[in-house]
Amino acid sequence: MTPETIYLDNNATTCISLEVISEMMPYIKTLYGNPSSMHTFGSSIREKIEEARERVAYLIGAEPEEIVFTSCGTESDNTALMSAVDAYPHKKHIITTSVEHPAVLNFVSHLQKTKGFRVTYLPVDGKGNLDMDEFLNAISEETSIVSVMYANNETGVIFPLKEIAGIIREKSMEYGRKILFHTDAVQAVGKIPINVKELSSLDMLSISGHKLHAPKGIGALYVRKGMRFHPYIIGGHQENGMRAGTENTASIIGLGKACELASERLPDDDSYIGRLRDKLESSLLERCSPARINGDKERRLANTTNISFDYVSGEAILVKLNEHGICVSTGSACASGSGEPSHVLKAMSVPPEAIHGSIRFSLGRYNKEAEIDKVVKILPAIVNELREISPLSKC
Ligand code: PLP
Repeated sequence: MTPETIYLDNNATTCISLEVISEMMPYIKTLYGNPSSMHTFGSSIREKIEEARERVAYLIGAEPEEIVFTSCGTESDNTALMSAVDAYPHKKHIITTSVEHPAVLNFVSHLQKTKGFRVTYLPVDGKGNLDMDEFLNAISEETSIVSVMYANNETGVIFPLKEIAGIIREKSMEYGRKILFHTDAVQAVGKIPINVKELSSLDMLSISGHKLHAPKGIGALYVRKGMRFHPYIIGGHQENGMRAGTENTASIIGLGKACELASERLPDDDSYIGRLRDKLESSLLERCSPARINGDKERRLANTTNISFDYVSGEAILVKLNEHGICVSTGSACASGSGEPSHVLKAMSVPPEAIHGSIRFSLGRYNKEAEIDKVVKILPAIVNELREISPLSKC
């Protein structure tokens, strides 16, 4: 990244905050002890880990003992699903959505193939909102776990978690059998206020450090006190027996600091980032017409806009922006690099040509207004130039 780089791909990953780096540094350079050691050099690090746990818990309204550190969001998602499989082995039905991240989608598909699970993939409408009637029809006594993301990584659309939690609670009571509820909140944590206590039946919630200015390779799973939890990684006694493996101390401490910063700055970040996003979005829609937003404009993360530019290829736009040091991502070859069009936009029935021309801009607290102004100046010229040579624009 050069000083001129304009980074608008914060849903892919974020920079590590300087405050986070400072907090981690001693534990990389000198305080390298193992927190499980008997000597003070190692065991004194335990206190910093517990402080980090408190900071993570505070951000989502949980108790510190309900936070388990993992290696990433993917591990948190896999752990939550696998715990349901182990805790309720007789129940063979999973409900999820058609727009989840591959960390959930590919894992449930694996359970389908290897363990005979039946999976319901809830559809979404054209704005990316869940069909709640389908959810009510799908849930049954056989449902082991419902895994619904908090906010979508491609469109920013926020799902109605409170409503879902209420339905799961009612159904669990009606059946007299627990239905587990997990949410992949990787894109929501630190961006919108979250209080797990307000989500009555929520059992597990996934967090990933690198989406909120902590390092890559650190995550956390909220595990509601008293729930029937089964560890996924088995070995030593770390994390209270809930996740084995010597703690990634510096990164745990970094995640704690990032969560503390997010707790302090969330309202300001939200309004600042939202203002920049709205400026970017409205200017581009006006200057690059015909273009449209993918996803519900009202129920969206403040940092994300997914725009389809008619008659042009998103990949061509990405390449041109990249030449100017501007980083974005496309919906035409989804983030996994599979070359397949975005499953999220497909599930929203976005027409193939609009998927082809889609770009995701995801902002963060370190973006500057001058960067947005620069993108607004450069991009319309790129789009017009590409439209000139596009065979589609002549149809
Ligand atoms: N879930 C969502 C919604 C994501 O956006 C991502 C990463 O892009 C993940 C899970 C995976 O997180 P990690 O990269 O920490 O494994």
